[in-house]
Amino acid sequence: MSAPIYGRVALIGLGLIASSMAHAMRRANLAGEITGHARSAATRETAAEIGLVDRVCDTAAEAADGADLVVLCVPVGAMEAVAREIAPVLKPGATVSDVGSVKRAVIEAVAPHIPEGVHFIPAHPLAGTEHSGPRAGFAELFDNRWCLIVPVENSDAAATARLSALWEGMGAHVDVMDADHHDLVLAVTSHTPHLIAYTMVGVADDLRRVTDSEVIKYSAAGFRDFTRIAASDPTMWRDVFLTNKEATLEILGRFTEELFALQRAIRTGDGDHLHDYFTRTRAIRRGIIEAGQDTAAPDFGRGAASARKEG
Ligand code: NAP
Repeated sequence: MSAPIYGRVALIGLGLIASSMAHAMRRANLAGEITGHARSAATRETAAEIGLVDRVCDTAAEAADGADLVVLCVPVGAMEAVAREIAPVLKPGATVSDVGSVKRAVIEAVAPHIPEGVHFIPAHPLAGTEHSGPRAGFAELFDNRWCLIVPVENSDAAATARLSALWEGMGAHVDVMDADHHDLVLAVTSHTPHLIAYTMVGVADDLRRVTDSEVIKYSAAGFRDFTRIAASDPTMWRDVFLTNKEATLEILGRFTEELFALQRAIRTGDGDHLHDYFTRTRAIRRGIIEAGQDTAAPDFGRGAASARKEG
């Protein structure tokens, strides 16, 4: 097995993404030592009990002290406080990264706290499930998925290449993207779809048919898939919408226009419009399967692999 890419990696936040990183780093011997910290004692105890990392620390600063790589794996709204706390202990030459689902807001929150001589290289793995917490992670989460690296001004090329090598070692493909473009792309591919899923499940709940069991009993793929997405962590998704406001509102505006057009086509009986529209969308699905980002298997999100989604 090859030598680790980083001597010591600190994971701040020990939820789905951090725990998957810990498993994936161990699988390929990518880190000499992994330290970790989570806000609550309960999560820290669970992490220690399952041996998730080599050392569970009571504070973020303790975990980050002396680390070669510190990865912020907390909800986007918590990034600034963590960055402020760890700043004084970061060692010169170390890299700070994150896995936040929104990039511009994280850069604005974290960059001002990064000391001279420390590299800041934001990243976002496009992989996730609706499960949270330290027990939710698994080593294969990032296999064959994309990790977008979003370098900031003057990001060091060697430090960026090293972080890319870590993500590739964890099974991901790496691409580099500008923060604003990232936030717009994710608003289309992930954030707005989540909002729509939350809305659809909320509507069914409002109609009080979910608890009446008919909606559950007869839930075909459509509604069932929405419920899976709508089961995602409320804190994480609250923060995504609060921090990727502009791009989400932009895409939501377009979505609403298209929805009105479809609504009109249904009312006026314009079958050609509906058929053309659905033909176009079907081709997009084919493209995703051809790109290896999903399988054509009709398991409607129940299998482990297809339960993955993007944050
Ligand atoms: P998660 O499973 O809910 O875990 C979040 C972790 O952050 C928990 O260990 C939590 O500790 C800790 N935490 C929260 N606030 C904290 C604070 N102020 N200080 C220290 N620790 C704190 O979340 P996740 O799904 O791993 O998401 C983590 C990040 O990855 C988020 O920024 C999210 O946007 C991003 N992301 C998520 C997905 C996805 O699909 N889930 C995909 C890609 C990227 P406690 O348990 O003690 O509360």
